[in-house]
Amino acid sequence: RIAPVIDSIGEAFARSGFELALVGGPVRDAMLGRPHNDLDFTTSARPEETEKILRTWGEGLWDMGRDFGTIGTRKGPWQVEVTTYRSEAYSADSRKPSVAYGTSLADDLVRRDFTVNAMAVRLAGPQGKERSVVDLYGGVVDLATRVLRTPGTPEASFSDDPLRMMRAARFAAQLGFTVAPEVVAAMKDMASRITIISAERVRDELVKLICAPYPRRGLSLLVETGLAELVLPELTALRMERDEHNRHKDVYEHTLTVLEQSIDLEARLGGGPDFVSRFAALMHDVGKPRTRKFHDDGTVSFHHHDVVGAKMTRKRMKALRFSNDEIEAVSSLVELHLRFHGYGDGEWTDSAVRRYVRDAGDQLERLHILTRADCTTRNRRKADRLARTYDALEARIERISEEEELAALRPALDGNQIMSLLDI
Ligand code: ATP
Ligand code: MG
Repeated sequence: RIAPVIDSIGEAFARSGFELALVGGPVRDAMLGRPHNDLDFTTSARPEETEKILRTWGEGLWDMGRDFGTIGTRKGPWQVEVTTYRSEAYSADSRKPSVAYGTSLADDLVRRDFTVNAMAVRLAGPQGKERSVVDLYGGVVDLATRVLRTPGTPEASFSDDPLRMMRAARFAAQLGFTVAPEVVAAMKDMASRITIISAERVRDELVKLICAPYPRRGLSLLVETGLAELVLPELTALRMERDEHNRHKDVYEHTLTVLEQSIDLEARLGGGPDFVSRFAALMHDVGKPRTRKFHDDGTVSFHHHDVVGAKMTRKRMKALRFSNDEIEAVSSLVELHLRFHGYGDGEWTDSAVRRYVRDAGDQLERLHILTRADCTTRNRRKADRLARTYDALEARIERISEEEELAALRPALDGNQIMSLLDI
């Protein structure tokens, strides 16, 4: 599908005497047969020259990334970004790479994060229009064997930009690829470098990881390499040691299962991947390690782990610079997810059901998902019973909401009262 559009933009740049190549994500995804509507190009043209060409070739223009040499446009369904060849210079403690223009496609490719992201399709070269695959680091082979490797040594790459360690976990989660052993080893060695990266950039990778098709892969990698300890320590803490009687389940394993169960139920929301629902699943038990108590009779309890967990969730999301709306949505789910456990045996009064609905607010549908996901992981018979009980609660919620809607349609005052109030 991308053939006509890349041909036409290649021609436009060739006509002006510049080099142009499709790079990174769209090349990788085209080879994988994954749809990708963002087309990223790299060029020998300087931003002002790119701008001139895109002004006539594209539909609209923006230069939000101008300082980084990027000009954007649209062409039919395609989001197009054209960036001037770069070669980046890094200093050891800088949060952001400083940008210097490069002089060749090869320079531009060597600074990229993974070999599968460092491939290009050259569309305009020194000899004018062309169409050839440029794969200097074995990206095609790595794509075929589904492995993430860095173009140079992973140590040098992660030292240049530690965010790439997060990106390794993110792409593992998105593509279902494995990460090469030497790359995992470098992540373990260099995990502490992630602290020089801004919280916003870490957060953005984390969000993509969690919204990916295989979040378990990415999260396990974060935990295994020690990155989780630094960016999401609550997750690592869930791996509580089992006591000698195996009296309580591994909360970490349980959490990943609940996350996968909620992903299965996500269709209820009628959209794509839902970050709030998934992150709430990930955080729903984070209060447990903090509140665990062993009793003389051999039982374990987690006193108020919902309230404590909600507080911990708020704190973590604040540190990761999430918006207040996102923080409120996720933490309210963590806080409410246990309330259902009081339903069933002693059955709630109608007003208790109303309170449940009111406290959930616009998170009600997500609360249904989280609570059901949390139910389905216990033993099979118990799980079935819990699911049926939740069915009953949902049916009751629906009935009560309908009654309330009807009541809301009836005016609180009758005609005579209204007339006397208005003195007519
Ligand atoms: P998607 O947009 O689908 O999430 P993508 O591969 O396009 O995936 P982006 O984050 O949009 O990922 O980055 C575009 C390309 O820029 C990547 O394919 C990679 O080649 C390069 N890149 C982005 N960030 C970095 C980085 N921190 N270090 C090195 N290269 C990077
Ligand atoms: Mg992209």
